[in-house]
Amino acid sequence: MMPPHLRGGGFHVPPEAVLPTLTACGVEVIDSTLLRARCPAEDLHTTPTGPGHCVIFPNDGTPRIFCHHTSCAAHVDAVNRRLWSCSRRLVRSSTMAAHVARQRSAQQAHQHERQALQQRAARMLPTVLEKFHWPLDAIEADSPTPIILPVTQHHRYILDLFDDKDVVWTGQRLNQTGLPWHDVRFRTVNHWLGRMRCPGAFICPSTFVPGIYSRATHNVVTRKFLVVESDKLGRDEVGAVFRMLQKQFGLHLRAVVDTGGRSLHAWFNMPPAALLEGLEATLLGLDCDPAMFRPAQPCRLPGVVREKTGRCQELLYLDLAPVPSSAAGAMLHAFSQLV
Ligand SMILES: [Zn+2]
Repeated sequence: MMPPHLRGGGFHVPPEAVLPTLTACGVEVIDSTLLRARCPAEDLHTTPTGPGHCVIFPNDGTPRIFCHHTSCAAHVDAVNRRLWSCSRRLVRSSTMAAHVARQRSAQQAHQHERQALQQRAARMLPTVLEKFHWPLDAIEADSPTPIILPVTQHHRYILDLFDDKDVVWTGQRLNQTGLPWHDVRFRTVNHWLGRMRCPGAFICPSTFVPGIYSRATHNVVTRKFLVVESDKLGRDEVGAVFRMLQKQFGLHLRAVVDTGGRSLHAWFNMPPAALLEGLEATLLGLDCDPAMFRPAQPCRLPGVVREKTGRCQELLYLDLAPVPSSAAGAMLHAFSQLV
């Protein structure tokens, strides 16, 4: 018949799982099936010691021993305290291990989801290029706001997309950030508009804390625009992705800039944060550059000649219309259809 301390069942931790803890705490296990131990102070017993006098209670992972004799009680208590503290450490470390394992598996599932989305978008690319075909000439022709200023003043249109008091970074070079004298590169839109010439070849589509001199992410106040570009798709191809984002996802296209190089940049009003990660995976699948998903990533400002190519950085498309208020809901709906 099963000894009383083994009856009842209901252990979450199997009895044999406590054996290493017992050994670690100096308890000699005589019978691991019947859970019998040698009393740690057997020599103090005043009457003969029977085989089942000192027993082990697995106690759901926090084992205790019990001896029928009383003369050894102080020693048994000391062992039980050691067992308790040792089990707590084991429980804590196993809880931590389980937590790490859960986190790892959630990350893997998340990564898998992203990859699946990216692969699905990659499969969609030929269809997107065909269905939403929007070559450079058509983009120019479709601009809702007429672009009438000379190209040397095109930076004004981009600055007009911001609010007057927004602090915006512009630079002639990308590395004009991070040192105290770079504070002059962080000025309000009003300030930049007050200058005769284009303030630089680059601009950041986010706004910054006043008085700073670094384009670090923690200095970003608002991510106002998401700039989409592709190094892989041609100038007559990438428009299809812009149009798909506009028509299918409801993203509000504000401007398209010819970078004077191989690519075009599309400025969209920043979509809701909940969509960003899925959108990034989708755009990656559509051969677009994920760099612009970084909060403080600069891009080309129209209004200057690009040194390497000798061609103008030029605005092709502009929409100065106010933001449609229902856009976010439509976007979420479109995105849920995709995923
Ligand atoms: Zn004893």
